[in-house]
Amino acid sequence: MPDQSENAHVDDPAAQIGALSRQVELLRELSTTGFRLSHLLRCQDLYAVFSETVGSKLGTDNVAIYIHEKKERVLRLVYNQGADVSTRVFNLDDHDFFKHLVQNKMLTRASIEADQSLKQFFTDRGLDWQDAGLWIPLCMQHAVVGLVMVGSGPEELPVDDYARQFLEKISAHAAVCIHNCLLYEMREKEKEDLDRTLYNLSLLYDIGRAMTHISDLKSLLKYILNQAIAVTHAEKGSIMLHDPDTDRLSIRVLAGLDDKVYQARVNNNEVTCRSFLPGEGVAGRVFQSGEAVFINETGGDSSFVEAATSYVRSIACIPMHVYNQTIGVINVTNKKNEAGFIADDIEMLSAVADQAAVSISKAQLWEMAVNDSLTGLHVRRYFMVRLQEEVSRTERYEKTLSVVMADLDYFKAVNDTFGHTSGDQVLKAVGEFLHESVRDVDCVGRYGGEEFVMLLPETDKASAKRLSERLRKGIAAMELDNLPHITISMGIATFPEDGRNVDELLRKADAALYAAKKKGRNRVVGYTNAILLPDVE
Ligand code: GH3
Ligand code: MG
Ligand code: MG
Repeated sequence: MPDQSENAHVDDPAAQIGALSRQVELLRELSTTGFRLSHLLRCQDLYAVFSETVGSKLGTDNVAIYIHEKKERVLRLVYNQGADVSTRVFNLDDHDFFKHLVQNKMLTRASIEADQSLKQFFTDRGLDWQDAGLWIPLCMQHAVVGLVMVGSGPEELPVDDYARQFLEKISAHAAVCIHNCLLYEMREKEKEDLDRTLYNLSLLYDIGRAMTHISDLKSLLKYILNQAIAVTHAEKGSIMLHDPDTDRLSIRVLAGLDDKVYQARVNNNEVTCRSFLPGEGVAGRVFQSGEAVFINETGGDSSFVEAATSYVRSIACIPMHVYNQTIGVINVTNKKNEAGFIADDIEMLSAVADQAAVSISKAQLWEMAVNDSLTGLHVRRYFMVRLQEEVSRTERYEKTLSVVMADLDYFKAVNDTFGHTSGDQVLKAVGEFLHESVRDVDCVGRYGGEEFVMLLPETDKASAKRLSERLRKGIAAMELDNLPHITISMGIATFPEDGRNVDELLRKADAALYAAKKKGRNRVVGYTNAILLPDVE
């Protein structure tokens, strides 16, 4: 609508030209500024350009922008270029009423002063309308997008007709641009969230799949811990498992430590770390409550007893549950490059922990089934499966292998003299010694009470004899606290010369062992045709 000053000069051509050129100037300015605003994608950039435009038009540095948050029903301060803002957020519970009040018109101090309901509206919400010289609503057709506060305190603003027209039009344009930018940022955030969720799901899927393929408990724990550290961008971590017999939580694997030697020793069970009772320390507390915890300033948490000595800045500790039972916890410490762990980390770790718990308990059951509880060696049944597999493989590839049967000498006397418990300790020590003294590819089993059996792939009789001699000497030289000395006798049979199947090999190794016993014990005998075989039943 043309304003009165233009109508006043309708008969004056010079004034008409003047008014027209002002209109052209207005349109030019609107189109340049509008173009700039339309090309911005980020709300903060838009607020900056818009504030700058409004401020320079009215000759003030003080501009603040409030944006309407529909869900919260508030106007929230989102940009401030130096205005004296007394209220950062105010309620807009009745949006339509507010829209009706502002009617897409700028409000000067005088116009608010003159409108009782508007004044009341501002004061009811703790917003001092006298803080600013001018309030410009940012409205779209059906909604209030925001409110701009211009000038501060008693500052006088030169709002002539030209400035008023420009500000009203550019504010309407800015309202649309802000609305679009807000939508754009919301969509972008939604896309980021979706991408992250997809990435996390595929990660969890991969982890879950990998876990089902690892049956060895130690390797599984290492894999789980490394994944937990990677998904949370932590520096290091540990997995603790609960031992129902001792009711203690103890570290089973470590990863990411600077001291790699110590880490390897712990991971190989050469040293034992401090263990925790349920309820003790962060891990004990998490184990007992079954609830995950993250602490980003460990120094201030009294339950984190070792923060000062273990260089822990932040820690996240997640329980592992299977069938309503907590079997242990995963700890990750020191989030890299960031202040600390966040709820998303806990969500991700909990998902890893849920899958981990099932795989760990399966691996534990497997280990219980295939390993003897006293010596940790394979039980006879599992050893026989391994032996059968290895014999078939050896035959297929036309290789060699040796089987060693071993039996402790005069062990009955050990039990009779020192008691059954001491006998058990001797068995355990011998078992550990045998396990540690052979190669990873070799397989040691507990064949019976105090009888052991070894499978040595790709080992001929001479090599098997050398190894057995070394083991025999080692056992004879073993010094055990408060336990008697012990010796062992061994018999060797080799594929293919002594036998081409499991039964034959075991029978001949046993016959060689019997020969060793007969020759006086504490010795190794390789099977030869001179050795008499017992009758086959
Ligand atoms: P030899 O030199 O002839 O082998 O004499 P030995 O006394 O060792 O005789 P044998 O091998 O026949 O004896 C087996 C003994 O081992 C019987 C039993 O007292 C003991 N034994 C078997 N299993 C266990 C066990 O699990 N723990 C303990 N402490 N002793 C066991
Ligand atoms: Mg025996
Ligand atoms: Mg014996």
